[in-house]
Amino acid sequence: MKLTFWYVLILGVILLVFIFILYESFKAFSYRDIDQALRTIASSIREGISVVDERIVTPEFERPSPLNDVFVLLFNPRGELLTETPLPYDARGVTLALRGKESYANFENGGREFRAYTLPVHDEEHRLGAIQVLTTLSALRKALANLLFLLLALTPMFLAVAAIGGLNLARRALAPIGEIVKAVRLIKTESLDRRLPSISTDAEIEDLVRTLNGMLEEIEKGFLREKRLTQDISHELRTPLTIIKGSVSLALRKSRSPEEYVATLQEVEREVDHMIRMVNELLFLAREDDLTQQKHFKPVLLNALLEEVCLELLPLATQHHLLLCVNLPEDRLVVLGNSSSLERLFYNLLENAIKYTPSGGKIEVTAERNGHQAVIRVKDTGIGIPREDLPHIFERFFRGDRSRQRGGFGLGLSIALAVAKSHGGDIRVEDSTPQGSTFLVTLPLLGEK
Ligand code: ADP
Repeated sequence: MKLTFWYVLILGVILLVFIFILYESFKAFSYRDIDQALRTIASSIREGISVVDERIVTPEFERPSPLNDVFVLLFNPRGELLTETPLPYDARGVTLALRGKESYANFENGGREFRAYTLPVHDEEHRLGAIQVLTTLSALRKALANLLFLLLALTPMFLAVAAIGGLNLARRALAPIGEIVKAVRLIKTESLDRRLPSISTDAEIEDLVRTLNGMLEEIEKGFLREKRLTQDISHELRTPLTIIKGSVSLALRKSRSPEEYVATLQEVEREVDHMIRMVNELLFLAREDDLTQQKHFKPVLLNALLEEVCLELLPLATQHHLLLCVNLPEDRLVVLGNSSSLERLFYNLLENAIKYTPSGGKIEVTAERNGHQAVIRVKDTGIGIPREDLPHIFERFFRGDRSRQRGGFGLGLSIALAVAKSHGGDIRVEDSTPQGSTFLVTLPLLGEK
């Protein structure tokens, strides 16, 4: 409604300006035509003028002739009208002509409006008088008034049609929006799987519906993810809490020896440690998902960082009788990031490689520059990842069947992936067979976007 009002108002203003311009140009053109006609007549009369006995004689125009409402008047050098029929004339024009100047003028007489053109008449030496050609302007005035009336009368009609058309158009264009609003209102957190129907064939509306549906899908995915995470966390916490509860209840059932109490407390401490580690990992994950921390990113030299992580894990590898090799390029690989998060990423990958590689195996870390990216591979000769597990290993709390007894919460890879993503990079399993796996990490190099 508001839209239509503005649209009609603007259209009205444009129309009025248009009418004004049209009216004024029509008037100007008409005056030009009249002036031209008056001038042609006056000039042709001046050419035919002769002087007989000191009197101006014009053969055809001796008398004023109402030629198409055009009158010709002759004046002697004293400015006196030479024609007998009394006719109104433009006295100022005559005075000007006697001074040698031609002129155009409008004047009124007896309620009638005239246009006059006055031309001086002279031969080589003498001033002979003046010719004035007049025409009434009533026909022009009438035509102009009719034109203005017609245009002004048509304007409201035109605006009314535009308003009705505009309203209809707006209503029709906005109808699908109303439908969308109705459909969106029906979507609640319990029915996030609902999608908006395709209501219109209009490309923009289709685009809007598609965008909203895409957004709904993202919201639903996020919602389900959070729901599953809460379930997973509760589930993970339940086991140690049940163990604690069991040991404490058992210890309290009757009085125990100090050694038995110590054993119970040790059991409780183990489980609490386990819970603390898990909560810490979850907190780390939550922080990694928070993109605002990117503000604190600094340049990190990957070569040094990888060396440090490998050095840190070397005792563990040696303990498992594994060979740990590092191949770093001469090139300095610098990325913009958080060094402790990046350390955690590679630590988790290497820790997994150590965990899932039988003794006597080999773990190899290589880094290289590939265009504007750093590519890091962590290759092991471990047990490999079953094909059916591959799509899930980066999910939170996912643990492969064969790895359950090896500890861990199933958060290591999701943390590694979250770190890579928050640094604009990615991780994928490049290759995995029962003879070993290769994890490939890509990170954008600093200044090479
Ligand atoms: P976990 O704490 O169980 O190691 P991760 O998120 O680190 O959790 O890994 C998820 C699962 O992916 C593991 O349970 C394991 O089945 C599999 N996995 C990860 N890395 C390797 C690897 N290098 N070799 C074989 N399997 C692996």
